[in-house]
Amino acid sequence: MPVPRARELASRTGAGLSRLVKRLGHVLARAGAAFVPWALSQLRRLRAWAQSPSVLSSRARRSVASAGFVAILGVAALGSCLSGTPKPDTNVSASAPPSSSASPSVSPSPSPSATTAPPRKVDESKPPKGSVMTRTGDASVALTFDDGPHPTWTPRVLDQLKAAGVKATFCLIGRQVKANAALVRRMVAEGHTLCNHSWSHDLRLGHRTDAQIKADVLRTDAAIHAVVPGVPIRYFRQPGGEWTAGEVKLLKQMGKVALGWAVDPWDWKNPGVSQIVSRVLGHTSRGAIVLMHDGGGDRSQTNAALRQILPALKAKFVLRALPAGTA
Ligand SMILES: [Zn+2]
Repeated sequence: MPVPRARELASRTGAGLSRLVKRLGHVLARAGAAFVPWALSQLRRLRAWAQSPSVLSSRARRSVASAGFVAILGVAALGSCLSGTPKPDTNVSASAPPSSSASPSVSPSPSPSATTAPPRKVDESKPPKGSVMTRTGDASVALTFDDGPHPTWTPRVLDQLKAAGVKATFCLIGRQVKANAALVRRMVAEGHTLCNHSWSHDLRLGHRTDAQIKADVLRTDAAIHAVVPGVPIRYFRQPGGEWTAGEVKLLKQMGKVALGWAVDPWDWKNPGVSQIVSRVLGHTSRGAIVLMHDGGGDRSQTNAALRQILPALKAKFVLRALPAGTA
């Protein structure tokens, strides 16, 4: 009888598959509990990138965003199978609770006792809408430059801004400040606003503890103030835009403004001068905060693009540094 046989075959295949998946699961589980959180974070980054308004057309964005979402669901489901926990989304240290009888071949890792409990993490959910500044609040447009100061590229950006009479905002990486102190002094002397961009461009900073985030931000502020004492550093920009709700809340308590952007030409990827120009000019509207880079790699394309971007934006908008505020 074909139907029962087909059923039997299907059930055998199903059982075989499930054994295979289980075995694969054990291998992966042994390979490291860090896999699932890592994969999830990569997928979240992909999704966040795809949703950035300036990167793709809205149709392509929707497709990539849905693909990313489906992939995240897939990894989440796989994670649940592997670890036996309902939420693979929890942090690594807490992702392997002692499982009861569900999967005897996976040796339960030691239960985190009360005395060795990991420090409390910040709220890792996405920050509430509007809590990260992406627009200037008026008609003016703000150019922001990340990942400097850099001995080669920052002076060229500063030269161009000076020649064009444009003030901008520089998001500095703390550990690069001391070696490029003269450039930071020049930024201040020429009327640009400073922004803290973390000590070492930590993309995961928002997922660390309150104490770790605070220490990183204060260390970077201190490095900047060692060079330009008393200059206000009102803004903080999370590397990669990987904000968390907890981080944004903490920054607010510290008196910092979480600085995002409205236009991102992905110039750090060196997509070509014309691409950078067209992305910036095509997406900048009144009030936009524009992200570009004066560090983090070879910025000759950004510099070449600026030669066209500056006069074009100046013709349409008032360009200004973000308000520096008070120290
Ligand atoms: Zn950066």
